Amino acid sequence: MKPNKLCASCNKPASVFQSHSGRFLCRDCFIRYVERQIRKTITKYNLIENKDLICIGVSGGKDSLVMLYNLYQRQSRIKNTNKIKVIWIDEGIIGYREESKNNLLSFLSKFKIDVDLIKLSFRENFGMTLDEMVEIIRKENLKLNPCSVCGTIRRRLLNDAAKDNNATKLAIGHNLDDTVQTLILNLLRNDLFKVGSVKPHTSNSNPLFDIRKEFIQRIKPLIRLTDEEISMYCYFMDIPFQSNPCQYSETFPILRRDVQSFINTLSRRSHEIKYNLLKVNYELIEILRSPKKIAKKFGRCKKCNYFTGPKRDICLYCEYKSLFGL
Ligand code: SF4
Ligand code: ZN
Repeated sequence: MKPNKLCASCNKPASVFQSHSGRFLCRDCFIRYVERQIRKTITKYNLIENKDLICIGVSGGKDSLVMLYNLYQRQSRIKNTNKIKVIWIDEGIIGYREESKNNLLSFLSKFKIDVDLIKLSFRENFGMTLDEMVEIIRKENLKLNPCSVCGTIRRRLLNDAAKDNNATKLAIGHNLDDTVQTLILNLLRNDLFKVGSVKPHTSNSNPLFDIRKEFIQRIKPLIRLTDEEISMYCYFMDIPFQSNPCQYSETFPILRRDVQSFINTLSRRSHEIKYNLLKVNYELIEILRSPKKIAKKFGRCKKCNYFTGPKRDICLYCEYKSLFGL
């Protein structure tokens, strides 16, 4: 960033450029921006109520630590609220999780965060470490991706632990990047059903069975923050987070990485793309929930009576015609 730029909020020397808003911000205003986004997401979607018992899945990575810090601050301001419970899972990946455990412990003591810590492991709670499973996958040439196996087991253990601890909410550190990648992945896999699950909270009603008894409602307070913003926040706040990538994210090609680099390339050209995808996601959820609403998404062109967008008087086809003098 060029020096001598001033913060758009307070006029002090800026430290960061926010490409999606086109604003320069100083350290303090940037920190306030991030914390406001988290508060706004919680309020807008009513993610947390005072009586909630919150379990947080913490890996030791930047997203989960930022979420824990902010939820802890929020809960500390509320009287007679339940103590937060942190669930930490050791997948059994040699040389990987040790760093994150140390980070988590030093983070808790540095910021004086007092939570109940629930430690789980793939070995004890599932029966085998991920390293052992990968060995079998390799030996037997199974068509399995370690990340898919890892994610499935981790989601299950998190939900079960939250349920066993009487949690009413399970907070997950998914950020904007994770969310829009998942949207594109679900579309590429022709899985419209899953598209409906990517929102700041999972559904707490389902006509087929009483979902509340089966699944603890998952909330995602970081859904409006990018990967980059969360890293920057950690840097400014001096939050130590896991820096070593997991070896399997490198050795096994996964579609998510390709989608990530595709979206990031597009975002460099058009900064609002991630936010547009998030909005598209919400629109899709609405459409998928109520087929009648699809009709409302269309209007009719005043020139040719063809279907057009609801906010358009004439369709794009007619607009091009008149543009080209036809
Ligand atoms: Fe699990 Fe894949 Fe993440 Fe490694 S990169 S911890 S295997 S999901
Ligand atoms: Zn400022």
